[in-house]
Amino acid sequence: MALSGLDIYKLLPKTNCKKCGSPTCLAFAMKLAMKKASLDECPDVTQQAKKALEESSRPPIALIKFGSGDNTIETGGETVLFRHEKTFYHQTAIAISVDDTLGDADLLVRIEKIEKIGFERVGQHIAIDMIALINKSLSSEKFLSALDKILSNSKKPVILVSSDQKTIEAALKKCSDKRPLVHAADSNNLKDMCAVAKAYKAPLALKANSLEELDKLSHEAAGMGIEEIVLDPGSVPLRVSLNDLTQIRRLSLKRNYRPFGFPVIMFIKSTDKHQTVVDSCTFIAKYASIIVLDSIEEDVLLPIVTMRQNIYTDPQKPVTVEPKLYKFGSPDKNSPVMVTTNFSLTFYTVAPEIEAGGNSAYLLVTDSEGMSVLTAWAAEKFTPEIIADTMKKTELDSVVSHKKIIIPGYVAVLSGKLEDVSGWQVLVGPKEASGIPKYLKEIWK
Ligand code: SF4
Repeated sequence: MALSGLDIYKLLPKTNCKKCGSPTCLAFAMKLAMKKASLDECPDVTQQAKKALEESSRPPIALIKFGSGDNTIETGGETVLFRHEKTFYHQTAIAISVDDTLGDADLLVRIEKIEKIGFERVGQHIAIDMIALINKSLSSEKFLSALDKILSNSKKPVILVSSDQKTIEAALKKCSDKRPLVHAADSNNLKDMCAVAKAYKAPLALKANSLEELDKLSHEAAGMGIEEIVLDPGSVPLRVSLNDLTQIRRLSLKRNYRPFGFPVIMFIKSTDKHQTVVDSCTFIAKYASIIVLDSIEEDVLLPIVTMRQNIYTDPQKPVTVEPKLYKFGSPDKNSPVMVTTNFSLTFYTVAPEIEAGGNSAYLLVTDSEGMSVLTAWAAEKFTPEIIADTMKKTELDSVVSHKKIIIPGYVAVLSGKLEDVSGWQVLVGPKEASGIPKYLKEIWK
């Protein structure tokens, strides 16, 4: 369990010598608790205190990395049960399965499709994170041949799914430098799989049919020196899985129970589209670090990645766009200028409405610290002064010749003061973005 600032303070020398750059030991302790300082910055901390602090600063859920270079995926490392308590750090990785019974041509087509899956949402590009190669054929040869094709056509991290230790070892010989996840050791092959995973320094998934069995496997794997573990509590009815995942997360965070302090992988078994979405979204919310899907259909994947994006957006750091003057279409000196805030969702709601019907216009985006229009107005982050300042900084005077600016209808109250501070005529636009096309067509002059 992470220590509080006061707990940490009790372990520090309490001399207030300032060598760490903080005015007092208490201030340094608070920084440590917020992870804004490193213990090394205090030269006088005792070995005993160091040990206690290092142990307590170990994350309750281990951070495990897969893949290499730019294609590294990080999972785990979470510190809270609920996003609003702080934030979730590492979004659930989405893997698509490929099985080794596919013929060469079908295999290549599937890999190509997985590579091409991508969505643009609120300015972010969302893609599939990993490929899970399933040893459905039970043939080592076919598994290795399929692995070769994946490695030559994709840079995504791979999950090697086979219960045969020799097949896994042969696969690791080909790609251990890319840090694949080995799936899985179970009660039948634990010793052999641990030996292989250890030899190739590969993260190892442990698969069980109950939490008791998973607990036992985790203890035994740790005893054999396996530090990078991923837990697979098995595929059971959703209600049971949800309970298992919640127990694992609670025990690791609230009780600091080390055998469960690892990321969790869930295989989505349903063949029904709607159930696949329901299962996936449930596991993204609570508390899978990796989900493996068979479906590559966009209508299945879009709601899943959208859910993930929503859950893993830091509530304290709204997604923003750069404050500046944006152009839509081919605007000239007579084109309308609209203004809004830099909350990404606001921008990406307004932008397509401006573009609708082929309008050419400018959109001035102010820095509202990522708040939407009404919130920013209430928080005084979308004021006449801020808008006028942004107009000046973007030299709006020289961009258009008409000196008219359109503000969102919800903040009509800003118009008088904005006219005073900017010297521009202020027009009150529609309240909702959906009214923009009609406004530009019928009202803008
Ligand atoms: Fe306290 Fe150590 Fe900082 Fe000195 S260097 S003020 S002892 S925390």
